[in-house]
Amino acid sequence: AQEDERQAQISRYVRVNTNKWSFSEAVSHFIAQGYVRVQCISPTSEKEFHIDEHIQNLLVFPSKTSLLADAAYGGGMVILQDKASCFSAAILAPPPDSVVIDATAAPGNKTTHLSALMKNTGQIIAFEKDKKRFATLEKMVSKAGCKNVETNCQDFLQTQPSDPIFSQVTHILLDPSCSGSGIVGRLDHLVENREDDGSKKEDRLRKLSTFQRQIIEHAMQFPSVVKIVYSTCSTHPEENEDVVRDALTASSGRFELVPRSEALPTWSRRGLDSKSRGVDAQSLIRCSPEDGTNGFFVACFRRVHNRGKRKN
Ligand code: SAM
Repeated sequence: AQEDERQAQISRYVRVNTNKWSFSEAVSHFIAQGYVRVQCISPTSEKEFHIDEHIQNLLVFPSKTSLLADAAYGGGMVILQDKASCFSAAILAPPPDSVVIDATAAPGNKTTHLSALMKNTGQIIAFEKDKKRFATLEKMVSKAGCKNVETNCQDFLQTQPSDPIFSQVTHILLDPSCSGSGIVGRLDHLVENREDDGSKKEDRLRKLSTFQRQIIEHAMQFPSVVKIVYSTCSTHPEENEDVVRDALTASSGRFELVPRSEALPTWSRRGLDSKSRGVDAQSLIRCSPEDGTNGFFVACFRRVHNRGKRKN
């Protein structure tokens, strides 16, 4: 029952795929379907929507709204994607014509978001190592009309950053496997909190965080990369603030966190202070069901160009 309540807190988010049509066309489409545009939806209403205040091209419907039968969904013109999950590409914000890596791409929510943000220009090199999930990624990229995405069924950690094919890569999105503890409805936390399961949980988190840190450090090796976004749908500081702190330490001053003023400044839930230990928690972003989203975490690194004037 508690989980149902948490689920009801989370709105139905609909990202308009601007590769296929404009935002105003999408708004008109939903109005023509009988939905009413309001300033703020009431969770109990069935036929209302509003425009999200933080993410461009995102519509917000009451949580019970199902759009699976809507032609716009069938045609890849809208993507049903949690608001928090939209933060990663929105904060990376690669300009049109840039060369971007999406390191852990399937099923492709963030790849297709990047594609639209880049106005279907430039190049996104997407990696996914799992064959089945790779097939889903290919389908989603094609359904969303992405012309700037090259998909590779490959382990990102096996790529050679110095390979000339990556010499122009300036932006990297890292959304690696995580515990998923932020996803409402997974009920994992009920298992994880069992006392006799404590050591297993620690073991799993240690393995995940080692991989997560490895993937950030690998991304930092790409010679032209200037911006890296790291995100998880985990609530555990071990996969979030701690991983970011360790990756920064390992970068020996070559990278720093983008300050709050450049990372969704109007979003009020930031990193965990007590756990950040030396990392500016205000630079980090957290999301929680209290914000109407699943639990999520985002950090954005940028290359430090002027070593002489580097801040600590
Ligand atoms: N970014 C995706 C989205 O928004 O739709 C979700 C990514 S999911 C959290 C993580 C994905 O990374 C999984 O599909 C997993 O198979 C893949 N993965 C894990 N390790 C990888 C690696 N070393 N190289 C490439 N893909 C990897």
